[in-house]
Amino acid sequence: EKFKTGLEKTRNSFSTKVNDLVKRYRKVDEEFFEELEEILISADVGVHTVMELIDQLKDIARTRNIQDTMELKSAISETLAAMLRKDDEEGALALQNGQMTVILVVGVNGVGKTTTIGKLAHQLKQQGKSVLLAAGDTFRAGAIDQLEVWGERAGVDVIKHQEGADPAAVIFDSVKAAKSRGVDVLLCDTAGRLQNKVNLMNELEKVKRVIEREVPGAPHEVLLVVDATTGQNAMSQAKIFSQATNVTGLVLTKLDGTAKGGIVLGIRHELDIPVKFVGLGEKIDDLQAFDPEQFVYGLFM
Ligand code: GDP
Repeated sequence: EKFKTGLEKTRNSFSTKVNDLVKRYRKVDEEFFEELEEILISADVGVHTVMELIDQLKDIARTRNIQDTMELKSAISETLAAMLRKDDEEGALALQNGQMTVILVVGVNGVGKTTTIGKLAHQLKQQGKSVLLAAGDTFRAGAIDQLEVWGERAGVDVIKHQEGADPAAVIFDSVKAAKSRGVDVLLCDTAGRLQNKVNLMNELEKVKRVIEREVPGAPHEVLLVVDATTGQNAMSQAKIFSQATNVTGLVLTKLDGTAKGGIVLGIRHELDIPVKFVGLGEKIDDLQAFDPEQFVYGLFM
C-alpha cells in the first residue's frame, strides 16, 4: 500500500507510457524494444540497467516465442524484479543481537538525512528497541535543533555539543552515553556540506575511526541518504561517497515527489549497494523498508 501511494507519480507517467506502447504496437518487434528503452531511460532507470533489461526481454520473447506485446508486458516487471533480487540484505538493517548497533548516516545537505534519522528512530522504537541519536552535524546552522525536533517526535534522546564543535567529540560522547544507558541502537547524524569534499570525507573517516575504536565491529551500517528527485545527481553522490567510505546501504528519499522513481533500480543495479529504505513522504512513518518485488509491482499496478 505504502509503495502504491508513494510511487504514484512514477507509476502514472511510467505505466501510462508502457500501456500506450503496448496498445500501439501489438506485435513485438525491434522498434517496440527501442521505444520501451526510451521510456525506461526517461524514468531514470539508468542506461546500463535498461540495456541489460532489454537484452533479457529479447531473450525471453525469443525463447518463449512471445509475439504479443500484452504478453511481454508481464515479463517486464518479472525481469526487473529478478534483476534486483540479489541478496537478503535488501531492506534489512544489520541489527546486532545482544550488543549495541551503531549506524552512521551520511549524505549531502538537503537530501533528507535528518528526517530519515527521525523516521528510523521511530521505526526502531516501534520494534521495541531503545534508540539514541548523536548530533554529529555541528556544521550546518540549525542542524542540531532540527535533530532534536525529530528526537522529540520519535521520543528518543539526542546527545549534542555546541554548533561548530568537533563532530568526532560528539560521537565519542554519544557512544559513551549509549553504552552507559545500554541502548540498542545509536544513530549518528553527520555533516553534509559538499563545498569541500576532501574535508568532509576526512571528517567522516575520523568519526568512523572513533566508532571503530570504541565499539568493536562498529559501525554496523553506514547508510547513505540520497534524494531520488535529483536523478543522476543522486547516482553521482552515491559514487562519490561509496568511493570514500564503505557504504553498506542506501536510503532513497522523496520518491513520492518524483516521476523518475526508476532511479532506485538504476542505482541498485549499477552500484551494487543494497537499498535499505525508501522515503515516501515527509511524515514520521513515511519510510519503507525496500523490497524489490513490491517496489517493481508498485510501479506497474
Ligand atoms: P538534511 O539536510 O539532509 O538533513 O535534510 P532534511 O531532513 O532537513 O530534509 C530536507 C527536506 O526534505 C525537508 O523539507 C523534508 O521534509 C523533506 N523530505 C525528507 N524526506 C522526504 C521524503 O521521503 N519525501 C518528501 N516528500 N520529502 C522529504
